[in-house]
Amino acid sequence: MKITGIQTLCLSRPHELERQWVTARSRIIKADCAIVVIETDEGLTGIGEACAYGNPLMMREWVQWYSPLLIGRDPLDQRTVPVPHNRSWSHDCAIGGIDSALWDLKGKAAGKPVSQLLTATPLKKVRLYASSGCRYDWRHRPEQLIDEAIEYIASGYTAMKFRIGTDWAWDGVTVDRFLGLVRELAQTVNGRMELMLDGNQRLTIDQALVVAKELDRLGFKWFEEPIPQTDIDGYARINASVDMPITGGEQFTTLEQFRPYLEKKAYSIVQPDAGICGISAVMQIAEVAHRYGVGLCPHNWHNGLMTMANAHAVAALPNPKVLELCMIQGPLQWQILQAKPTITDGWLEIPDKPGLGVDIPEGLEARFPHIEGGYAISVER
Ligand SMILES: [Mg+2]
Repeated sequence: MKITGIQTLCLSRPHELERQWVTARSRIIKADCAIVVIETDEGLTGIGEACAYGNPLMMREWVQWYSPLLIGRDPLDQRTVPVPHNRSWSHDCAIGGIDSALWDLKGKAAGKPVSQLLTATPLKKVRLYASSGCRYDWRHRPEQLIDEAIEYIASGYTAMKFRIGTDWAWDGVTVDRFLGLVRELAQTVNGRMELMLDGNQRLTIDQALVVAKELDRLGFKWFEEPIPQTDIDGYARINASVDMPITGGEQFTTLEQFRPYLEKKAYSIVQPDAGICGISAVMQIAEVAHRYGVGLCPHNWHNGLMTMANAHAVAALPNPKVLELCMIQGPLQWQILQAKPTITDGWLEIPDKPGLGVDIPEGLEARFPHIEGGYAISVER
């Protein structure tokens, strides 16, 4: 089999005004998506989503730039796959899309789901956690966070992750005030759903130590990116101070980047993303992390095709836990696929079909034309 063509579909959908949301100082105004499509001389087509954080148009350029190395080559030959190099975000996310599309092709050629190529006994379904809790505004009813949690419980989700809201400086929010909301949330949920917090690297180490202790006491499942990522010793200190795992690494694209965090016990769970570094790198990172007793729960924001790539990886992990599912991406998330995969009570079924097990419909670019510019605008108050 030989690769005959490769292209990148760049898609967008603006959020309606009432669906736009503000986190920290950014207003999110649209959903973006980039899909790498690899065609072959045997009529098989591979598809893979490249994380939209890499900027769809720049990723398309990288895919184009690599195409002479791919066209005419055998997609099943491992040497065909370019590798992430941790110097350019657009480059590595583009590789994430190419790598996932090649895995889709490998599965289709073998007549097996990707998860079965990754391990002999993969899970048939993966537990999702509802990822959002980033729409609440400290100035206008922060209790919106609690309403949202109740919605997820009603839809059958068994776990939820939330963020720390709009810029604390705007409204004089303190750790005490934040923890008041956290306790109210935990009390309302009352064990019906597991809870996780993502600090998005916005806290100081002193704030993070206090928050971590309270989350641990409340039985939280993890505390993600509490402080700026470069403070590896700070992470190690927080991680040592609580039983609850401290997690991170969603931006990392190479195993090498995880080494100091693993060696210093800075993370108890690592969070690479197949849309950012590819399925191959996720599995490699998982294997080494496992040797350190560290689990892997992929970062998985954006759309449904990336969710499927991450789901196959989770299904094949040595110690699978949960997979993130973005709850606020809007219609683009699943409408990029011909059919939405089955999600029942927060569990995603791995389709019993070759490859990633999903297809894209015709005419996506006409339906969701790409809108240039960033997905977020910065706001001041
Ligand atoms: Mg995160």
